[in-house]
Amino acid sequence: MTQQDSEIEIALPDWLSAFAARRSIIESVEERMAFVIAAARANVQAGTGGPFAAAVFESATGRLVSLGVNLVLHANLSVLHAEIVALTLAQRALGTYDLGGTGLPRHELVSSVEPCAMCYGAVPWSGVTRLICGARSHDARRIGFDEGPQHIDWSAALGQRGIAVRHGVMRDQAAAVLEDYVRGGGRIYNARETGVDRPALPD
Ligand SMILES: [Zn+2]
Repeated sequence: MTQQDSEIEIALPDWLSAFAARRSIIESVEERMAFVIAAARANVQAGTGGPFAAAVFESATGRLVSLGVNLVLHANLSVLHAEIVALTLAQRALGTYDLGGTGLPRHELVSSVEPCAMCYGAVPWSGVTRLICGARSHDARRIGFDEGPQHIDWSAALGQRGIAVRHGVMRDQAAAVLEDYVRGGGRIYNARETGVDRPALPD
């Protein structure tokens, strides 16, 4: 194999930590979502990624633990969806892979759009006990983003694992970021829905 790096380092956009520092406690779920939607819009305006943002909060207090944005294009890494960035930063900040660990307050993930297949899978592993979604998956698909092979009833499946899901919080505002992204010529990357032409695999 070619030489492999001995560590993984991901540079975050300069503006992101300053944006996150604007708020420390956000009490209502709607205000938490509004903050996340504003971050998605800022990501587009800064040209640092797709029109998606997510944040981890302490559910009861509204303390902001981390703020992530989509960095797939910025970092050239397909897994860097906003939810993954937010969960990674939260786990780094708290020094644990389990945000639902013993002695910790309950944490929630607030995402500007419903999770794709990958991010849906990441939710139960993260330890959050609530997921708050803005725009629907349909809103992302409508502009050409691929949400992947989502579990048909992913919301109920999370519920069975003790993770409450709320849909459509400030949906119109969240969806408007998606629509403005397309209108502004934003790139729809990785849009490989079934049926799209691909080179044949070698035998
Ligand atoms: Zn995702």
